[in-house]
Formats: sequence, C-alpha cells, structure tokens
Amino acid sequence: MSAACEVSGLGRDYGRHRALDDVSFTVAPGEVFGLIGPNGSGKTTTLRIVATLLRPTRGRALVFGQDSYQEARAVRRLISYLPEDAGAYKGLTGRQYLEFMATFYEGEGSAGQAGRSRVEIVARAEEICGLGERLKSKVKTYSKGMTRKLLLARALATGPRLAILDEPTSGLDVASSIDVRNRVREYARQGTSFLISSHNMLEVEFLCDRVVLLFDGRVVEQGTPAGLKEKYACPNLEEVFLRVTR
Ligand code: ATP
Repeated sequence: MSAACEVSGLGRDYGRHRALDDVSFTVAPGEVFGLIGPNGSGKTTTLRIVATLLRPTRGRALVFGQDSYQEARAVRRLISYLPEDAGAYKGLTGRQYLEFMATFYEGEGSAGQAGRSRVEIVARAEEICGLGERLKSKVKTYSKGMTRKLLLARALATGPRLAILDEPTSGLDVASSIDVRNRVREYARQGTSFLISSHNMLEVEFLCDRVVLLFDGRVVEQGTPAGLKEKYACPNLEEVFLRVTR
C-alpha cells in the first residue's frame, strides 16, 4: 500500500533564500505525523507543497503515490488542508459556510469508504464543531476560536484520506484543544492520516505517532516522541527540542 505521504529531497527557494533543503519523511496510512520546529523553520512551506499550493524547487511530495505538483487535481481529492491563518466567508452563517463547502466534497470517497452526501458532511461537521445554535450566526460575529472550530470541522467532515493541519489548535482554549486532539485520534483510528504542524510540544507528544524536527529548513531529527525522549534523556519533547536546536 502506498504511503499516505512520501516527501523526498524536498527543497524550496524564495529568491536566493533556501527555505527548505533536502527534507524527507514518510507518513504511513492512519498515522498522525507531526512537523515541529521554531518559527521560520519551514513547516508551513512543507505543508503547502504537500497540499498542492506551492511548487517545490527540488524533490517531490507524493500523496498516496500521486505527485502533489504534477498530479495536483488528483491529490486535492484525497486531502483537506487547514492553513494556519485561514478565514471563513464572514457574510455567511456557520451553517451556510458548511453547506457551501460540502458541495465541493459530496460524493468523494475516502479511506476506503463510499463518498458522503452533502447532508452527511454538514451533519458531521455540525457535530464536530460543537457550535450548536451559534451556527445560525454570521461568521463575522465569531471569535477566533469559534472560526477555527468551524474550519477544523470542515477539514475533518469532508472525509479526507490525508488531513494537513497547520497549527490545528491555534487560538483554541484548553477544553476545545483537548476535544480537537481527541477527534484527530478518533479519525486516525478510523484510517485518516494526518500531517500536522505545531508549536505545542504537549500536543505533539499526545497526538503524534512520529515527528520530524525542522531547523533552518532541514530535518535535524525524526522519530517517535518516546524514542526521542529516550535518545536525549529528556523528560519531555520540549527539552528534546531545546537540546536539538540549541
Ligand atoms: P512559523 O512557525 O513562524 O509559522 P514555519 O516553520 O511555518 O514558521 P515557513 O512559513 O515555512 O516557516 O517559512 C520558512 C522560511 O521561508 C522563512 O525564512 C520565511 O521567511 C520564508 N518564506 C516563507 N514564505 C515566503 C515567501 N512567500 N516569500 C519569501 N520568503 C518566504
């Protein structure tokens, strides 16, 4: 079976600046894989390449065997992407937003399942976001966290085979963050693969089966959170992170 995502020798230049250099990793089907690294280390650039939005300068990213640049249309059917700074259409109500987005995904199969109907996608998203009656309000009246929940619900409810989430719990309070992490684990158990970036090491430790640590656009470590803690004799991933990047 193809890997959910196979990144090899990936590089990206912005003018003369080398933002990514020779980045390689593989995400197995059903795995939750984390990209961690300091600001500017190349996490978003990597996610955007995998999500078909950015052309790599070198190397390639395959999603279930399909090239994210050469076969972008096919890859888009397999993924959902939640950008770090995403917004929703502010003039729509939350429910209208979910209904509108569902029209793009209805009937698309995922993780070996038959495609979902528009009604199913909206019902699932309503349940995931937990916004209840507030779905009747316009998105422009939402707090940052509420908008994030709406967008995350959209990203999961459409049934992607690979969900690419840039800082999924950014702006969420503790209870909402825990809820999102539990959802991710639940979806992973059902077969969805996840590629996630995060600054929150606690989150990464709880959520990710394996992680890659990026520094200055390069992979400086990778492994399971437990394996990395053991290797560096550190009690948590935060300290591993500091040791490796110091
Ligand atoms: P953060 O944790 O702050 O979100 P990141 O790890 O996601 O950072 P990227 O956004 O991938 O990092 O940026 C990697 C490098 O590429 C940085 O040096 C950044 O300044 C540069 N970069 C990103 N986008 C552009 C762009 N459009 N033009 C020029 N340089 C860019």
